[in-house]
Amino acid sequence: MRMDPPLDKSGEDLSGQHATACLQPTADFMLAEGIDGCPIPMFVLDCNHVVAHWNRALAALSGLPPERQIGTHRQWEAFYPSARPTLADLVLDGALEDKVDQFYQEKSRRSALMPGAFEAEDFFPSIGDGGRWLFFTAAPLRDASGEVVGVIETLQDVTEQKRAEQALRENEARYRMLSITDELTGLFNARHFFARLAAECERATRYAQPLSMLLLDADNFKQVNDTYGHLEGDCVLQTLARVIMDSTRGADGSFRYGGEEFALLLPGTGQDEAERLARRLCSAFADTAVVLSSGIVIHCTISIGISQFQPGEKPAAFMHRADQGIYEAKNRGRNCVVAVSADAQP
Ligand code: GH3
Ligand code: MG
Ligand code: MG
Repeated sequence: MRMDPPLDKSGEDLSGQHATACLQPTADFMLAEGIDGCPIPMFVLDCNHVVAHWNRALAALSGLPPERQIGTHRQWEAFYPSARPTLADLVLDGALEDKVDQFYQEKSRRSALMPGAFEAEDFFPSIGDGGRWLFFTAAPLRDASGEVVGVIETLQDVTEQKRAEQALRENEARYRMLSITDELTGLFNARHFFARLAAECERATRYAQPLSMLLLDADNFKQVNDTYGHLEGDCVLQTLARVIMDSTRGADGSFRYGGEEFALLLPGTGQDEAERLARRLCSAFADTAVVLSSGIVIHCTISIGISQFQPGEKPAAFMHRADQGIYEAKNRGRNCVVAVSADAQP
C-alpha cells in the first residue's frame, strides 16, 4: 500500500507532500484521496515513524495543517505538550500491553478488530477550547507478505458523549441521594435507615465487631406543636438534626426514621462509648436555644434508648431494645439515656 503523494504523468508531485521511505511506491491514489477526504480524523505513519498522511479532518481537530505535519516526526504535537510516542508509534513498534500501558495506563486495550491494533480513550486538554475526549485506534498497515509497513490511527471526538455520560452519572447520584435523604432535616431517611440497619447487622455478625444503636425521641413534642404550631415544630426538628450532626462524625450514620424520632447507627462502637455519646447529645440539645421563626426562643429535650447488637440476632430485636430504652427514659422523666442490654430488662 502506498501512502506517499501521488505523481501525475509528468512525474510532478501533485500534493506537495513529502515522499515517505517505506510505504510501497506503487501509488494508491484513490485510497490517499479517501483518507484525506474522510470525515474521521486520521493520520498515517510510515515504517520510520514519519507522518505520511494527516487528513483534513485531523487538521481541523488539532489545528495543525497537513503541510506542517507530513514528512516529520511531529505527530505527538497535536496531542501532548512534549515529545513522546503516540499510540500509532507504539503499535508500529509492535508494542505489547505492558508497554502501551506505560503510556496510556488503564485507558487502552487491544482492539478486537485487527491483530496488533490498540484502542484507547483519553482527555487531551490542549485540543480545542477547554480540551476534548478522544477515542482513538491505531492499526498496523501490512503489505501483501504481511510485513508491517506503516500504521494508521483514527480518532473520534467523544467529548459530547462523555459529558452526557458524566451528567447522567451526576443526575443518578443526585436522585439516589434525594431518595435516601430526609427533606426536612437533611439526615438520611427511614428507607435508608432500615437498609443500613440490615447491612450493618450483617457486617457486625460477619466480622464479629461491635455495633451500637441510639434511638432518640423528642420529648413532649406534641405540646410544642400545639403551642407554637406545626411549622415551628419543624424548626425544632431541624435544630435537633444540626445538634446530631455537630455531635457525631458527620451525618453518615444519622437518620430521621419517624416524625420526631431519630436514629444513630454506630459500627465499631461499644456500650461505653455509645452511652457517652448519648449523654453528650442529650445535654447538647437541652442546652441549645431553639430560635423559632417567630423569634421566640425555647428549649426542648430528647430521650435516648441504647442497644448493643448481639451477633446473629435479627435487626428488629436489636432495634426493639433501643425502643424499650426510650420507653424507660420517658418513664424516668425524659431528658435522659437508658441502655437496655440483651440479657437484662432496663
Ligand atoms: P413523648 O415525650 O412521650 O415522646 O411525647 P410526644 O408529644 O413527643 O409524643 P407523641 O407521640 O404523643 O407526639 C409526637 C408528635 O410529633 C405528634 C406529631 O404531630 C408530631 N410530629 C410528627 N412528625 C412531625 C413533623 O414532621 N413535624 C412536626 N412539627 N411535628 C411532627
Ligand atoms: Mg415518638
Ligand atoms: Mg416524642
